[in-house]
Amino acid sequence: MKIGVLALQGAVREHLKHIELNGHEGIPVKHVEQLKELDGLVLPGGESTTMRRLMDLYGFTTALRESELPMYGTCAGLILLADEIEGYEEGHLKKMDIKVRRNSFGRQVDSFEAELDVKGIEEQVNAIFIRAPHIVSVGDEVEILSEVEDKMVAVRQGKYLGISFHPELTDDIKIMKYFIEEMAAQNK
Ligand code: GLN
Repeated sequence: MKIGVLALQGAVREHLKHIELNGHEGIPVKHVEQLKELDGLVLPGGESTTMRRLMDLYGFTTALRESELPMYGTCAGLILLADEIEGYEEGHLKKMDIKVRRNSFGRQVDSFEAELDVKGIEEQVNAIFIRAPHIVSVGDEVEILSEVEDKMVAVRQGKYLGISFHPELTDDIKIMKYFIEEMAAQNK
């Protein structure tokens, strides 16, 4: 399978490595023309407003809104997928019927690590949260895969997967495996 990582800003290399470790081809995506050769796309963590500016500049906002590719967003990538962002007039790509809150785990705990149960994945997942968003509300079509401190931190809606944390900063390749094998491969 060919899995792209949107390579405008953020943790790109780490995701590419997790794709390769799962035995698939990881492709850094810098031009919209590359989208047509992919089986799935990862939207990495970083800074969502910066990413949005760059996506507008390179034509990705329109191309991804129209795209039928399976997508997996981590952290800032989750924010890009959401229909609604608390305090903002409009979402970015609006792929998932969810509302998110940015930087929602409080100032004093900017980052923390946790072992999480994630539905659909057998063993616990090692999760690093960095200025992480959480999911405030979800529509009927959305499946909640994981929660921490009573906050939703992993959700799936059909071919879209959104998570608050950063598995790509750990050795834990299980969520990438889930996205590729249970979502992107099933979409073919
Ligand atoms: N706080 C960032 C944002 O709102 C997301 C943080 C991250 O991706 N680590 O875009």
